Amino acid sequence: MSDLITIGGLQPFTMIDYPKKISAVVFLQGCNLRCRYCYNTSLLCSENDKSSVISFESLVSFLEKRRGFLEAVVFSGGEPCLQRGLQEAMSVIKDMGYKIGLHTNGFFADAVIEIINNNAADFIAIDFKAPFNRYQEITGYSINKEKYSYLADLLVNSEISYEYRTTVHNGILSENDLFEMADWLIAHRVENYALQEYKHGNSFDQNLPNLPGLYLSNMLYNKFDKNISNFIIRSDSDANYRELAA
Ligand code: SF4
Repeated sequence: MSDLITIGGLQPFTMIDYPKKISAVVFLQGCNLRCRYCYNTSLLCSENDKSSVISFESLVSFLEKRRGFLEAVVFSGGEPCLQRGLQEAMSVIKDMGYKIGLHTNGFFADAVIEIINNNAADFIAIDFKAPFNRYQEITGYSINKEKYSYLADLLVNSEISYEYRTTVHNGILSENDLFEMADWLIAHRVENYALQEYKHGNSFDQNLPNLPGLYLSNMLYNKFDKNISNFIIRSDSDANYRELAA
C-alpha cells in the first residue's frame, strides 16, 4: 500500500479546499504543466524523481486518528490524475468514511471522466486557465478543447458537486480573455465558478511582476454574476475590483 501514490505534501487541516467540510489536502507529486504563475514549484518534478514526504500507509493511519474531526480528503497537486494509483487511493480513503475531493488541471479528461463514472469523488474542482488558444503560452501545453468541453458537460450534468476556477494574474489574462472564458462557461451551463487572485512568491516564471488584485469592469463582473449562479472572487489583497464592479 505504501507506494500507491507519491505524496509531495500534506495539509492536515483546511476549511477552504472542500465546500463546507473540514478537510485535509494531499498534494500528489508531479505536474504535466508549467503555469507561469505556479507557486507549487516543488511539486512539479515527476513522482519518479522524488520520494513521498509521507507514505500512503502513514496517511491512512493519520486519517484513522482524525476520524470524526476531518470530514473530507482532497487530492490535489501537482496534477493528481498523473498518478496511476489515484483511484485506488481514493477508494481506500472513501471506504474509511471520508468525502473525496479532487483538484485537477483538466488535462487528463479521460481520467476525470472515469472518476465521475465510478463515483469515486464527491467534489471536483477543475482549472480553467485561459482561452483555449492561449493555453500553450500560459501553461506550456495546448489542451484538447473538445475533450475538456465533453468533460464539462458530463460533470455539470452529474450529481457530483464541482467548481471551475481561474487564477488571474493581471499581466497574463486580459479582460477580453475573461469575456471569452465567460462565454464558454455560460455555453456549458457551468454554475459554480471562482476567479482567484494569483499568489506572488516563488512563481515558476521568476520574471512575473507582482500585480496583485483582481480588476474587473462592471460589464465583465455583471456578465459573470448574472449568468453563473455561484460566481465568487477569492482575493487576499485590498483589490479595488469591488469599486469597479459596484
Ligand atoms: S499551477 Fe499549473 S504547473 Fe502549478 S501545479 Fe497547478 S497545474 Fe501544475
